[in-house]
Amino acid sequence: RADGLSELLLSRIRDVPDHPEPGVMFKDITPLLADPVAFAALTDALAARCAELGATKVVGLEARGFILGAPAAVRAGVGFVPVRKAGKLPGATLGQAYDLEYGSAEIEIHAEDLRPEDRVLVVDDVLATGGTAEASVHLLRRSGAAVAGVSVLMELGFLAGRTRVEAALEGAPLDAL
Ligand code: AMP
Repeated sequence: RADGLSELLLSRIRDVPDHPEPGVMFKDITPLLADPVAFAALTDALAARCAELGATKVVGLEARGFILGAPAAVRAGVGFVPVRKAGKLPGATLGQAYDLEYGSAEIEIHAEDLRPEDRVLVVDDVLATGGTAEASVHLLRRSGAAVAGVSVLMELGFLAGRTRVEAALEGAPLDAL
């Protein structure tokens, strides 16, 4: 996207070199959250995406996907369901393991909060390797819900996460605001 919204959002993201470890350029969204105009614009854009795709739930990925996804769900008039790191959700969970650069990780969801007729929009702040979003798409499919799309604030284009997530999405859209 190359419009005024993208420029506004990008101007409120802070690049922090070497965080949390050397060689990583961390994309810090806290300046955007602190700006009510930019945060509202992002919320509206995500809610609009929800409506365009006919989504009936927003699924936010821990942790910044919660901050961005929850207000968008409220604005769109749909429910919000968190995908959490393993071991955090108290109820019966459905889990999905995925590989990291070193080792592996697992995410979980309360599958009972989704219905087979749900169409889900997955929301997160940054798409990097795409591993988290890809695992979420697989997890949601296994829950029985349909995946309407994945919306992220920002995509790190040099990491080829898009290819991975698009393969998992089987034609549903991945957009970066
Ligand atoms: P990945 O699974 O590699 O696509 O990583 C995505 C997750 O890690 C997202 O939930 C992001 O919040 C976080 N993340 C990865 N790289 C960065 C970065 N450079 N800056 C901020 N967050 C990041």
